[in-house]
Amino acid sequence: MDRRKFVQSLALIPLTYTAMKLNELNKITESFDKTDTMPVLFLGHGSPMNAIEENEFVSGFRNTGKSILTPKAILCISAHWETKGSFVTAMQQPRTIHDFGGFPQALFDIQYPAPGSPELANECKSIVKKTILGLDDKWGLDHGCWSVVKHLYPKADVPIVQLSLDYSQSPQYHYDLAKELASLRKKGILIIGSGNIVHNLGMVAWEKLNEAFGYDWALEANEKMKKYMLVNDHQSLINYTSQGKTFELAIPSPEHYLPLLYALALKEENEKLSFFNDKAVAGSLSMTSVKIDKA
Ligand code: ZN
Repeated sequence: MDRRKFVQSLALIPLTYTAMKLNELNKITESFDKTDTMPVLFLGHGSPMNAIEENEFVSGFRNTGKSILTPKAILCISAHWETKGSFVTAMQQPRTIHDFGGFPQALFDIQYPAPGSPELANECKSIVKKTILGLDDKWGLDHGCWSVVKHLYPKADVPIVQLSLDYSQSPQYHYDLAKELASLRKKGILIIGSGNIVHNLGMVAWEKLNEAFGYDWALEANEKMKKYMLVNDHQSLINYTSQGKTFELAIPSPEHYLPLLYALALKEENEKLSFFNDKAVAGSLSMTSVKIDKA
């Protein structure tokens, strides 16, 4: 149909009908705006083998993916991308990075071809005032991101941008930076922190690698962190280095813990926080994952 005929045919639609349709459309738009705040996730990623194994944690990731609206794009803060300064990936097609060694070939064969989103990278750059976010065209998706996100979105059809962790900055800095990203939640963006709240590779019980087992200190630290989260005591979690021996053992280096602070910083006071995959493995790791959503 050419344009003139199309315009003519529009004129044939009774005015009241058109007005009614417009009204309906407005209502839909209004309700979409109101419900459009995306949840925030912290995913305990654990071993890269979770990318190809079938286990209860993988089921937990899948169920979580199914429980939320498909986002327009994902912003992922992974433990495995540390930089001096802060960067966001801005390429059209991020590569799948196999940043690990000593695993079966099947794991190296995995590709997760989710597109990038230069638009989201630029949006991040424009809303963050605390620092200058650099646009990166070299990184891609590391296993902290793809090994878990692939279970949420197996079709790899949701664009992903990664935000790096500036290793030179304090926990408070990361928490404050995350707060600046809050508006993305109302634009259909799912923000995911990926790490492990208890992560001490030096103390892994290798003989119990696949067992749901945690050392006493690991379980204690895990419970204490959950308690702080449930009462919104974020300051104690930001000041994790003053929390004594169990936290020292649970967080020997910050990179797997900091993504949690990104997720918590985005929690609105009236939102609820729930846990899934809340189990210790191999003695010194916990898979505890967090979902922040409207109450
Ligand atoms: Zn990791």
